[in-house]
Amino acid sequence: MNKSPNQKNTKSPDNSGHFGPYGGRFVPETLMPAITELDSAYRKARRDTGFKRDLDHILKHYVGRPTPLYEAKGLQKAVSQGIRVFLKREDLAHTGAHKINNTIGQVLLAKRMGKTRIIAETGAGQHGVATATAAALMGLKCEVYMGRKDMVRQVMNVFRMELTGAKVIPVLSGTQTLKDAINETIRDWVTNVGDTHYVIGSVVGPHPYPMMVRNFQSVIGRETRRQIRRLAGRLPDVVMACVGGGSNAMGIFYPFIKDPGIRLIGVEAAGKGIGTDLHSATLSVGRPGVLHGAMSYLLQDHWGQIKGAHSLAPGLDYPGVGPEHSIFKDSGKVEYAAVDDEQAFQAFKLLSETDGIIPALESAHAVAYLKELAPSLPPKSIVVVNLSGRGDKDVATVAELIRERADK
Ligand SMILES: *Cc1c(COP(=O)(O)O)cnc(C)c1O
Repeated sequence: MNKSPNQKNTKSPDNSGHFGPYGGRFVPETLMPAITELDSAYRKARRDTGFKRDLDHILKHYVGRPTPLYEAKGLQKAVSQGIRVFLKREDLAHTGAHKINNTIGQVLLAKRMGKTRIIAETGAGQHGVATATAAALMGLKCEVYMGRKDMVRQVMNVFRMELTGAKVIPVLSGTQTLKDAINETIRDWVTNVGDTHYVIGSVVGPHPYPMMVRNFQSVIGRETRRQIRRLAGRLPDVVMACVGGGSNAMGIFYPFIKDPGIRLIGVEAAGKGIGTDLHSATLSVGRPGVLHGAMSYLLQDHWGQIKGAHSLAPGLDYPGVGPEHSIFKDSGKVEYAAVDDEQAFQAFKLLSETDGIIPALESAHAVAYLKELAPSLPPKSIVVVNLSGRGDKDVATVAELIRERADK
């Protein structure tokens, strides 16, 4: 393949883990040895053909990659006549979402580093399930911190983790949700750095996590490039994905980042509206600050206090976002939009009806924005939407909304 000469000269992130002003390592001194150990182990593994071979083998035979790129003719007709819409089917990956691409990579790396214990934190439980699954596959002990409130809301995922042999540890401090679970996990890691690896679930946290998770998830975009060339004979005009922490979006965007003329669009959750306090539109209305080990856009009040996030989609409900998305927003390399709960709910029903695909509520945000964008696109445009996950987990939530409406 032809590489243009300027393709190699920008290093992202730089050696200190910065994406422009964003990223970095804002961690307690006690964690620095663990993080530098991880960084050098990852750099070595990345260049090792044995590691790549093992990873590719698992992704193919266990996760089910490559996932299909499917031309959604029904959705296409419903949103606009003249364009072609392709869905990258991460919903068909093992455990039902893209998160497994990253957890398999990190657990394989942990094993290679000689770690015997995996820890993670989870909010809605999806990252916990993907981590527990990878740990079960590779025979490592796994403990997942989860706020007690989240455990009540997400019983099914708690069972899935326990069935695959993980221990779910209820977090009783603070709001008993994700941010308290993150604090507990960091505390655990500080105490047990010798034998333990902390699996972070998105392109967030201190360096090298944003870079490493991006690279593990980039398999999505690499496959998409190959597949769209074969199916449509050329690269797409638009690539879209929902953004929570930003890993599925980064995974599909990154292999297209150097192509001029391809619009990359990240879709955040506007919740009950970005004018309210109930949303997760970090890039649309947040300000830069430091959270969970890195500088990025954040939802915060005038005093820098982190605000609670909200979305109908549990996986988008996070007040931060990856540092690389933050620099892409500033540079304009990626466009960011936001759609609200109602639009996501409508898109969830739409894709279920038009193509018989029930999307995750997170992914439904990207579908919803496609609906808004489609009429303004030139005829014959090719759009790829990353379908980050399947909606089985959201069926009860959506059924409840439908029932509420019927009662009115
Ligand atoms: C967790 C999750 C997301 C959001 O996470 P990103 O890191 O932004 O990708 C999106 N879709 C699904 C299905 C998820 O489980």
